[in-house]
Amino acid sequence: MAFELPALPYAYDALEPHIDKLTMEIHHNKHHQAYVTNLNKALEGKPEASLPIEEIIKHISKYPAAVRNNGGGHFNHTHFWTVMGPNAGGDPIGDVAKAINTSFGSYAEFKTKFAAAGATRFGSGWAWLIVADGKLEITSTPNQDNPLMDIAEVKGTPILGMDVWEHAYYLKHQNRRPEYIESFFHVINWHTVETNYQNALKG
Ligand code: MN
Repeated sequence: MAFELPALPYAYDALEPHIDKLTMEIHHNKHHQAYVTNLNKALEGKPEASLPIEEIIKHISKYPAAVRNNGGGHFNHTHFWTVMGPNAGGDPIGDVAKAINTSFGSYAEFKTKFAAAGATRFGSGWAWLIVADGKLEITSTPNQDNPLMDIAEVKGTPILGMDVWEHAYYLKHQNRRPEYIESFFHVINWHTVETNYQNALKG
């Protein structure tokens, strides 16, 4: 059993005009595919190749850098596609909306802090909304690391991840990462984030 590129749960142009079709095509079909291909190469012939990706991520300190980078890339992007969607964005819903207000004061405050986490991540990486000890926190990770990894500085269960690698926005926004981050808020699928939140609370 090899790892496989999951199908995008919507069309490549479904996030237009916020995230453009060509970026989505290359991001999914080339970048994510490369993480999957290289993860399979790194684990070829090893019993770990049949583990769920989450199990590998949680114990990533036991693995070489190729698994950390490509396994992280596979896990992160699989998550990323599902927390975005067409006809999405707007205000959060459900219990996660309440938790955002409790933890950050308001959605506007959350947005400012989450955007800052993405904008200030130097080089390539991710901004995350996580559940840690039952509470929401905002954090960021370098490269393809994520808060589920045992080596993460701030650990927790990711419920909303935002890719801030240049490949996520450079074709449309060039060096203007904050512009891309603003667009990202228009495509957040809060239904998925709410489901992720409920699952994270269950542990
Ligand atoms: Mn990416």
